Amino acid sequence: MPETIPPLRPPERLLLGPGPSMVPPRVYEALSKPIVGHLDPFLFEVVEEVRRLLQMVFGTANPFTIAVSGTGSSGMEAAVANFVEPGDKVAVFAAGYFCDRISEMAQRHGGSVVRFEKGWGETFGDDEAREFILREKPQVVAYVQAETSTGAFQPGKAICDAAHQAGAVVIADCVTSLGGMPVKVDETGIDIAYSCTQKGLGCPPGMAPITVSPRALEKLNARKTPVQAWYMDLKLLDAYYNGPRRYHHTASATMFYGLREALAIIAEEGIENRWERHRANHLAFVSGIQALGLRMHVAEGRRLWTLNTPKVPEGVDDGKVRKRLLEEHGIEIAGGFGPLAGKVFRIGLMGHSSTQANVARILETLESALKAEGYRR
Ligand SMILES: *Cc1c(COP(=O)(O)O)cnc(C)c1O
Repeated sequence: MPETIPPLRPPERLLLGPGPSMVPPRVYEALSKPIVGHLDPFLFEVVEEVRRLLQMVFGTANPFTIAVSGTGSSGMEAAVANFVEPGDKVAVFAAGYFCDRISEMAQRHGGSVVRFEKGWGETFGDDEAREFILREKPQVVAYVQAETSTGAFQPGKAICDAAHQAGAVVIADCVTSLGGMPVKVDETGIDIAYSCTQKGLGCPPGMAPITVSPRALEKLNARKTPVQAWYMDLKLLDAYYNGPRRYHHTASATMFYGLREALAIIAEEGIENRWERHRANHLAFVSGIQALGLRMHVAEGRRLWTLNTPKVPEGVDDGKVRKRLLEEHGIEIAGGFGPLAGKVFRIGLMGHSSTQANVARILETLESALKAEGYRR
């Protein structure tokens, strides 16, 4: 029996959580263009355009700059699978959830993980970072530049300098910084940086931009064992996207169109103007939060511009506040998890979501939801 299926009607949300963020209409239009085959010369033109624009957003001259199929975690897995060889010592800076995920992946790929641990929301100082690396002498160092579980930004210059002194390559998770904050891969000295499409870049989830330095490629070429994840093998992927353009998998032309358009929007805005927009909207949000009598979880100067973590006031149930925002205003924000469960809100102002109007809207609706849940300042 044929069925009548009603048209799909997704609710209209204002996405102000830790990702996905809002998608500009131009990107939706690009996503609806006709696809081409995965070996069509047109697809490779788009791939090349994406490479060039990603280099600009990442702040790198690395020729090895691509977007792999899959979400941000596939970028993480590609980084770990290719650069952690069984037996490698992997030094992880751990102060939030995503460094735990990197540690877990590194172990699964045969790495021996040593961790410098701190409380969720803290960051690592230059001297202690250097000491840790020079003491442990790892082959791989990993840190999270923008820790979405806590709202903290980790500077990387001292980490990268010490890692290079110790002969290690550095993996940096730039998932929540790319497109919203300076990532500066080359200036910082990051060897492998990966991100996603759905946070600062303003595209739906589906791809993971990744860039690899020439020195990291040397390590990759010197591997004694094959990369355990065939799908994430960067040399095979390079032979598809670059070089011989040999079939590896059926890349989604649609996702490449969307990413290309999102990056074109960034190029037109100017990457520095975009950072400044994120910074200004973050600062406006923080002053509004403080005027409400709330405090920020992360120390000033270490806060992400893309993801804010105000503390949940004493006696307020954060789940009920979030439910009100979603049900009464169609606004998605997130709560804390792990050690920060019930303690912080996670409010994203990233990509197309980072606007003055959205700052005003979230401050206003958050205030009314907090009051409705018994908050008295
Ligand atoms: C979102 C995020 C990821 C994972 O990305 P997915 O697209 O959800 O797979 C990894 N690291 C950080 C810091 C993130 O914020």
